Amino acid sequence: MSTESLVPAEKVAAFRAAVLAKLTYAVGKDPEHAFDHDWFEAIALAARDHLVDQWMDHTRQIYREGQKRVYYLSLEFLIGRLLIDNLSNLGLLEVARTALAELGVDLEHIRTLEPDAALGNGGLGRLAACYLESMSTLGVAAHGYGIRYEHGLFRQQIVDGWQQEQTENWLEFGNPWEFERPEVNYPVGFCGAVTTQVDGQGVVRQAWEPGETVRAIAYDTPIVGWRGASVNTLRLWRARAEENLHLERFQAGDHIGAVSEVARAESISRVLYPADSSAAGQELRLRQEYFFVSASLQDLLRRHLAQHGSLLTLPEQAAIQLNDTHPAIAVAELMRLLLDEHGLSWEQAWTLTTGTLAYTNHTLLPEALETWAVALMERLLPRHMQIIYLINARHIDDLRGQGIHDFGLLRAVSLIEEEHGRRVRMGNLAFLGCHSVNGVSALHTQLMRNTVFAELHRLYPKRINNKTNGITFRRWLYQANPRLTELLVDTVGAALLDAPQTCLRDIEPYADKAAFCRRFAAQRRLNKEALVALVRERLGIALDPDALFDVQVKRIHEYKRQLLNLLHTVALYQAIRTDPSTDWVPRVKIFAGKAAANYLQAKLIIKLTNDIARTVNADPTVRGLLKVVFIPNYNVTLAESIIPAADLSEQISTAGLEASGTSNMKFALNGALTIGTLDGANVEMREWIGDENMFIFGLTVRQVEARQRAGDLNAEAAIAASPRLSEALLAIRSGVFSPDEPARYAGLVDGLSGHDRYMVCADFDAYWNRQRQVDAHWRTPKQWWRSAVLNTARMGWFSADRAIGEYASDIWRVLD
Ligand SMILES: *Cc1c(COP(=O)(O)O)cnc(C)c1O
Repeated sequence: MSTESLVPAEKVAAFRAAVLAKLTYAVGKDPEHAFDHDWFEAIALAARDHLVDQWMDHTRQIYREGQKRVYYLSLEFLIGRLLIDNLSNLGLLEVARTALAELGVDLEHIRTLEPDAALGNGGLGRLAACYLESMSTLGVAAHGYGIRYEHGLFRQQIVDGWQQEQTENWLEFGNPWEFERPEVNYPVGFCGAVTTQVDGQGVVRQAWEPGETVRAIAYDTPIVGWRGASVNTLRLWRARAEENLHLERFQAGDHIGAVSEVARAESISRVLYPADSSAAGQELRLRQEYFFVSASLQDLLRRHLAQHGSLLTLPEQAAIQLNDTHPAIAVAELMRLLLDEHGLSWEQAWTLTTGTLAYTNHTLLPEALETWAVALMERLLPRHMQIIYLINARHIDDLRGQGIHDFGLLRAVSLIEEEHGRRVRMGNLAFLGCHSVNGVSALHTQLMRNTVFAELHRLYPKRINNKTNGITFRRWLYQANPRLTELLVDTVGAALLDAPQTCLRDIEPYADKAAFCRRFAAQRRLNKEALVALVRERLGIALDPDALFDVQVKRIHEYKRQLLNLLHTVALYQAIRTDPSTDWVPRVKIFAGKAAANYLQAKLIIKLTNDIARTVNADPTVRGLLKVVFIPNYNVTLAESIIPAADLSEQISTAGLEASGTSNMKFALNGALTIGTLDGANVEMREWIGDENMFIFGLTVRQVEARQRAGDLNAEAAIAASPRLSEALLAIRSGVFSPDEPARYAGLVDGLSGHDRYMVCADFDAYWNRQRQVDAHWRTPKQWWRSAVLNTARMGWFSADRAIGEYASDIWRVLD
């Protein structure tokens, strides 16, 4: 690959010796008899030694310089594989490749043996992983905090077209990247009671006696930045029971009962909740949230005290970012620690809490805004419930003191929702307890101001700010697409690798150069061939690499509107069948994505995709002009194979519902053209890329809102007005794609026409017409590749480094 020019012989020899030593002394295998997985482990351990050297240097430097620290709290980190990421950022990729080749070991094969660390569901978790890498690249002294789930996101299998969930066992063969730190552990309490006590100075204090205690054990993974600049720590917590075994019960013959409490305590870090964009209401989920928040806050307060001596300087020395409301209980927990454990006054504690915490909002979907039943909170976290009531009472009193008596306003800003049984609103808690509340795209931030947080925004007009998401180019360009990277470096020089935000722009003039565009198309063609091979191997389906690869890969969710794409697929299929001799642009429709296990409609959409795929792919009249594939088990690694092979990127959510999106950025950076709505970051991408290099269509947020207000969700008129749409719906409804069960999709189609919540039908004609313009653009390769090159050249701003730079200067106040 192109990111390293020189491969010095002595480095190769040293790396080879290191791998052999690891294989022998750490893995305990003779090279003669080592399995491939043993090699993976030995290589990872050899690479890890390099990380550790830099890690310690960097940590010492942070202490020496008294750098302000950033703590990124996230219930999800969707990391993927780390081997190539680490080797590449350390500048050791070519060294390793050469050293291993000398040992007869193929790095390209070994890399595929690493399991994906899928400790997240989708965009939110992947953002956290991109941001960690970027913080290391920029030299921000950061710690990621989360949960070391024993089982990450489920493995998706498709059986007879249906999704089945299988347990993911990413730790089965151990994890060479992490360091277990049994000596770093904290008690985390649940339940019990709060008593009022008077301390030695006559001050009234609340004392929480938890009914149960779980131990949080730290596991550290070093995260290295580009060129090994700095190495930060991802600290993940595992839950361990306080007592390994109830010996008395065991001796008394109750062998199962003796371990049941252990199982109960340790279930906290057992599985990631596979629910994307919907609040998981389970008590275990609240336990997970509090567990990792409490351990992280105890850990960072201990570090702060050890280094700075006084908690009063916390906001100057530490910034805590809450990734969505999942860690929002941090507001109450930090207050509790400062009040009850460290004896500060309410005013002091509140100043420190709000001065240190900041919150990122990721969704406006009502079903995803977390609330917890007051009764559950009172039982599980009685002291926190008291504190939440106090925060609320003081806030309301304060507003009344300012002369604000508007009952509607006070009800809207309350931490307690009284309407549907009493519930704690975690969004409002985060808003009040943080000095910064940010959205993740310009549009989403504006909608936050106008909708969910309208009243709080009126009271605190400076608190909401925007930080449009970004992606790390190291993973999503250099590693995922070495061919394109090499072309770019060849063209504008190796400086691009260090400063892609500025250097990518230098590619722009080449959009009009035929020779460059040929090379641009050639790298895409090779990436497509690789994907064709993957699809042949996994699905037994042959694809034509010259066809237009039209790709929608992301979580399956109604708001993301895979259905709209499927309706286009069916309509196109019918049009080709009706008129097979027309000069259709050959297309491959590629889908991938997981549905939450309990989200039946999303699972039905997967089944429909596979039913359509089977029917279309078997139909000789379409003569390969249309192919449909659903590639199972979408994850970071699969994304790295699919995205560099895409010609068209589908970003077609109902306007106003996708907060930002990040796969839209990955595709455009790799030179795919976007067909999309004016939603999330698509809006800003259009400003950078230019309307003429994208295919924007559909209802705007205003139009969507107007229809919602009017209750205008019946789609019968839209269907009647569009013969193409009616025919597609009729075919699906009547069982053309499900002859084994003709009524399978009757409910789905009837639901769509009766109550089209996501306005699929309303947007269909506009989408169809835009797709025909895609065809027209594709037919003129010069035009297509010009647009593709300009997409890559103009995506620099969407780097995670830009986003993290903004967080660092505006919210965290580090690096200045
Ligand atoms: C980037 C990414 C996502 C986010 O995709 P969106 O289309 O923005 O929702 C989800 N999953 C994986 C594996 C990703 O890499």
